[in-house]
Amino acid sequence: MKSVFKIIGLILAATLVSFAFPVNRPYAKGTPHKEDTTHTEKTVSYEELVYMVDSILDLDSISPQAIAMVTNYSAELERVKTAKLSTLPGSEFYENFDEETVFSPAPDDALPELMNLLVTNDSLGTYTPPICGIVTSNYGWRDKRMHKGIDIDLNKGDKVLSAFDGKVRIARKQNGYGNVVIVRHYNGLETVYAHLSKIKVKAGEVVTSGQLVGLGGMTGHATGTHLHFEVRFKGHALNPANLISFTDNKIYNDTLTLRKSKYGLAAFPSNATVYTVQRGDSWYEVAKRYGLTTQQMKALNGTDKRFYLKVGQQLRIN
Ligand SMILES: [Zn+2]
Repeated sequence: MKSVFKIIGLILAATLVSFAFPVNRPYAKGTPHKEDTTHTEKTVSYEELVYMVDSILDLDSISPQAIAMVTNYSAELERVKTAKLSTLPGSEFYENFDEETVFSPAPDDALPELMNLLVTNDSLGTYTPPICGIVTSNYGWRDKRMHKGIDIDLNKGDKVLSAFDGKVRIARKQNGYGNVVIVRHYNGLETVYAHLSKIKVKAGEVVTSGQLVGLGGMTGHATGTHLHFEVRFKGHALNPANLISFTDNKIYNDTLTLRKSKYGLAAFPSNATVYTVQRGDSWYEVAKRYGLTTQQMKALNGTDKRFYLKVGQQLRIN
């Protein structure tokens, strides 16, 4: 019986190693390649790998979590490989490619409890900053309303680019958003570009990362020219600052973890450690516990607001 475990263990270990250290890394050493910063196939952190290989090689008890994790990652890799063969990006997450309704958020029970979503790799392509500029307003509560995106300063006429490869679902004037473009990507995420002075794409058009989608402006409900940028999954807004560093203009990690929480969908870079707020916690106490200042922890969580923590809320602590 033990030899069966041994074989399973070795197969799993080999699979894990091939994920963490892909064979095809011609640019790993020597002269930097232009895609090096955002382009890496690593989907399992070193600590996770050590833990998984350890638990596998401890042959009397292969951790069910390790097996589940390998299955999850291999399914995700397989899914992404075939994603672009479909004419409808993210078709496994959406019933249709709706070019009429701006958003139709999926009911809570249709949201994943926990899921890893690949953001960039060979098949999905790379990330391009929609615009490089100063963040003037973060995601979160603002004037008693939820601000479901992030505002980036720009001048009228500045080029606004698609963040990832995908297909334009909405490209029109829409109430508060003004001229807005919504692109659905092959991993199921959608990005939103609002307050544009001009739209440069059409609904149904296939776009690549870095392609011009519109020109910056202040149409719709906006004071001053800026880009209102959102990231959504199944119609639910995610904090873009947990996927993208707007100071470094790159994504934090090529895998994004989505978790269902009391407050909708929370998204974190998969290499982040997440703390769930307990009764009595304050920003100051949690930050101190993890060797951070309150300001550092707020920055990590893409907020600068003075709001109280809520029990069950999830915070990044690294
Ligand atoms: Zn905004």
